[in-house]
Amino acid sequence: METLPPFRLAPYFRPRPWGFHDLAPWYNYKTETEPIGEVWLTGEMCKADTGPLAGMSLAEINRQNRSTLLGARPAGKDFPLLVKVLFPKEKLSVQVHPDDALAQSYGDPRGKTECWYALDAKPGARVALGIRPGVALDQVKHAVEDHTLESLLTMVPVEKGDMLFVDAGTVHAVWPGAVILETQQTSDLTYRLYDYGSERELHLEKSFAAMHLTTRAGKVAAKAVNGHSVLIDERYFRIERWPIRLATAPWLVAPVQVVQMLFVAEGRIRISGLSFDGQSFEPFFVERNQLAVIPASTARWTLAADGPAEVIRILPAGD
Ligand SMILES: [Zn+2]
Repeated sequence: METLPPFRLAPYFRPRPWGFHDLAPWYNYKTETEPIGEVWLTGEMCKADTGPLAGMSLAEINRQNRSTLLGARPAGKDFPLLVKVLFPKEKLSVQVHPDDALAQSYGDPRGKTECWYALDAKPGARVALGIRPGVALDQVKHAVEDHTLESLLTMVPVEKGDMLFVDAGTVHAVWPGAVILETQQTSDLTYRLYDYGSERELHLEKSFAAMHLTTRAGKVAAKAVNGHSVLIDERYFRIERWPIRLATAPWLVAPVQVVQMLFVAEGRIRISGLSFDGQSFEPFFVERNQLAVIPASTARWTLAADGPAEVIRILPAGD
């Protein structure tokens, strides 16, 4: 059986008008030009920077090794989940994503359901999540014309450690104050409904078609399971928080049939082990705010920390 060792991905810094010029202390990255709003951790342009795959983009790795990377029955051709860190300094536009059925009616492979995990939040941090109960579609349309849409949005306070579910069809906006680990279906279908009067293009007809007035969006309570927390377990993703207090964490490394993503939220970890053919791969460190990919075909791997650490494990789930 073909095998693929785990690897770390280098982050890709994406300019956004609502971002920061300096990402310290999160990332050692400064720019004098356009601010950075999104750090992509599993974008198809992100490059492996460890082991034999170093220098290859995630798109190339996936194209050449799909079943060893994703498992025997991947849900699609693309790497299934896009993981990003969002750094909002300003309000992001009010937007909505289509669900799978609507996206496919436009010829796209899938819609976009996503979730947000607050890596940090200042007092008073809030996000807009859905249309307020009882508001009709006509009211939403009028509010967009009148520039009063903000008054119809459900505002949700955000604290560090919160998980928020944002199912496709939910009108939403990230506002400043939090640093968010976003996990979403791999899709770039975003329809902008309102942008606080800026010049950027809006997509009103598509937004109104994609929008659901009632959704399941909202805060998700973590469930404690055997030394870790399940932060969310939904149709497209399962996300867990693992505190690493021992030198090694054998309980995290039981085999699973799918690709795994490990985001280091605190401390740093070292990944080592064997691929399926019994060869050991070169161990590597994953520092805070970096992400490692454990391919589905990795047979035995272990994880160690040299101090307290916290890992957010992200798994694709039932499509
Ligand atoms: Zn979104």
